[in-house]
Amino acid sequence: MKTAIIDLTYLLSAVLFIFGLKRMQSPVTARTGNALASLGMLVAVVATLFLYEILSWPLMIAGVVLGGAIGVALARTVEMTAMPELVAIFNGFGGLASTLVAGAELAQYVGGGRLVDPEGFGIVSALTISLSILIGTVTFSGSVVANGKLSGWVTGTPISFPGLRVLTGLLLLGAGGALGTMLAAAPGFPAVPGAMIWAAVGLGGAAFLLGILLVIPIGGADMPVVVSLLNSYSGLAAAATGFVLDNTALIVSGTLVGAAGMILTVLMCDAMNRSLANVMLGGFGGGDGGGGGLDVPEGKSVNETSPDDTAILARYADSVIIVPGYGLAVAQAQHEVREMADRLEAQGVTVKYAIHPVAGRMPGHMNVLLAEANVDYEKLYELEEINSEFKSTDLAIVVGANDVVNPAARTDEGSPIYGMPILNVDEAETVVVIKRSLSPGYSGVPNELFYADNTKMLFSDAKEAVAGITESVKKMEEA
Ligand code: NDP
Repeated sequence: MKTAIIDLTYLLSAVLFIFGLKRMQSPVTARTGNALASLGMLVAVVATLFLYEILSWPLMIAGVVLGGAIGVALARTVEMTAMPELVAIFNGFGGLASTLVAGAELAQYVGGGRLVDPEGFGIVSALTISLSILIGTVTFSGSVVANGKLSGWVTGTPISFPGLRVLTGLLLLGAGGALGTMLAAAPGFPAVPGAMIWAAVGLGGAAFLLGILLVIPIGGADMPVVVSLLNSYSGLAAAATGFVLDNTALIVSGTLVGAAGMILTVLMCDAMNRSLANVMLGGFGGGDGGGGGLDVPEGKSVNETSPDDTAILARYADSVIIVPGYGLAVAQAQHEVREMADRLEAQGVTVKYAIHPVAGRMPGHMNVLLAEANVDYEKLYELEEINSEFKSTDLAIVVGANDVVNPAARTDEGSPIYGMPILNVDEAETVVVIKRSLSPGYSGVPNELFYADNTKMLFSDAKEAVAGITESVKKMEEA
């Protein structure tokens, strides 16, 4: 009876996970999707803890309340721009949990714990436990380094040293050897625990160093891709732990996270027109490309503009497309952008937003920021939907975007970003680019758009510039 209740409860949580994921496909339904998936996890946790009576009731309730409170506090206080590092550390804890559970299971066999049958130990148990330890520990140490690179306590510049690849290869071999030893020791275990326990400790140690060495050579700005990949690993580690514990809910949720994380990683790489190998080998993106000056290269010239002049252009335009990028997130200019759009719309100007899939530093970065400022979802257009409209648009206002509007991706075969789909802002009648300098974006590739005849550069912090434009439009209305 108890088993039937547990199976039904796990089925319910699996259904909630799947409906939750499905609803995350659109920003309109994403919130309820998240709530459904969280409910699925709560149902699974409560069912496991209470129906198996693993711990005493007060201890279980204290754990759920304490864990829930920490999660709520973190989610409420974290800045939107710091979301990737929070996700990184959550992934890390997921990996660590898988390792600890696998280690505890091994220890229980040795100690004859009440949940396991020593007779039942075999090659399959050894394999699932070792995979949990391997993937879980790589995820943990890799995620801690990724968090460090994103929050600045580990340098964002790729770290390398002679022999790094050899050392990584040796550690991989060592981890393989430890895993093989665990499989070989399985038939005699748990009666003779020595080789199995030492191999498990060795596997954990090698995996810990591997996680660090795999992430340190990658540039800080590529970390969101790494975090997405590690998210996928944390799912795989959880699924392996599900097999260790024979827990269906963990197998289902781990597999969903593993698959979703991998799909997201591939989509991010596709949107940058880079392979995963190129990202993992530290292709580019050591920093954020900021700090450049205003020096115009020889033989080129820029047309500078001001908030007042941009306001005149925008006020008398029929159509304006706003293109947000990473600089919008840095300046936190989303509310000012919305106010500007509201003012222009009130004057009869059609305003749309063009969203590039990798604008900013995490998937959906621009959607989330604009949603925070209550911009209507209907006004956000994806690259494929809006690219043909630039030709018939009077004014494109680029707010802190750079790589995602760089025409070199279309024209310069030698460029590292050649082939990356971009927003064709250069086809608009006039383009105003708001940024502080002529420095390149994340890819480090110079942008010819800044020197085009129909481009005007508004050198300023995005928040100040956009607020200035809105102020001028307001004055024009009052005049
Ligand atoms: P970029 O990084 O190309 O450019 C951002 C620009 O913002 C900079 O050139 C900078 O110029 C400007 N900027 C910074 N701070 C401010 C500020 N306060 N006010 C105004 N401007 C500012 O950003 P994009 O969004 O165009 O492109 C994203 C890049 O990140 C792509 O190369 C993408 O491949 C990569 N990437 C994206 C991921 C994602 O999931 N979204 C994941 C990993 C990488 P200046 O210093 O002159 O002001």
